[in-house]
Amino acid sequence: MKYIFGNWKMYLNFEESVNLANFLFTEKLDDSGIELAVFPTALVMKDINNILKSTSIKTGAQDAGHPSKGAYTGMISAEMYKEIGCEYALAGHSERRHLFGETNKDVRAKVESYLDAGLKPVICIGETKKDRDSDKTRYRLAKQIMRAFEGLSFDEGQVLVAYEPVWAIGTGNACLPADATDRIDFIKSEIAKYSQNFVPVLYGGSVDEDNVLSYFSLGSIDGALIGSASTKISSFGNIIKSVLK
Ligand code: PEP
Repeated sequence: MKYIFGNWKMYLNFEESVNLANFLFTEKLDDSGIELAVFPTALVMKDINNILKSTSIKTGAQDAGHPSKGAYTGMISAEMYKEIGCEYALAGHSERRHLFGETNKDVRAKVESYLDAGLKPVICIGETKKDRDSDKTRYRLAKQIMRAFEGLSFDEGQVLVAYEPVWAIGTGNACLPADATDRIDFIKSEIAKYSQNFVPVLYGGSVDEDNVLSYFSLGSIDGALIGSASTKISSFGNIIKSVLK
């Protein structure tokens, strides 16, 4: 099974999100060999779930708070996303870690709360440019994996990882497919220290319609988490169609 996940971030307003979901619905861009999911803004989630409900296309939250209920002004819980039909939720996207100060401890709490709510966490990990330049990529990835997986109880198929080098996100400077494969092989060997379950690992960072197939042709890479190229009908449509061919 290969995965194409589109993280719409805060790029699309209500009307644009609905238009893109309607496009996915009318073009019948779902296929049993590909798990396709979109991560819209919370405000449109219910409408997108309605549009896609007769397809195999799933939705996910870009982030969810880890308390399940209570006096947490502004937060939306994993349970609330589950209740309106979401399948997945991102945990520890680099923008959450770097713009909002999320720590490995916060990410772990989110992963546990998503699993408790019945959502599948997509745990985002990746090294910064500074890590890379100081030869600390493996150290950073191993630490993020340890904090997320040590002692974590989950069934096979419930947890995914996205390898997203911070320097490649939104920069147009994608990680070379061979380098992404090397990091993903390392990530899989680190996860195996904590779990015998197969955990799919996606690559994310400036994937677009021109380079997507170079990632999908490599065995270790189980799919792609795509940001800006998933927010336009033409590029997202072309990406999905080229992978489905
Ligand atoms: C992302 O936000 O997860 C991402 C990979 O963004 P982009 O594709 O725009 O680099």
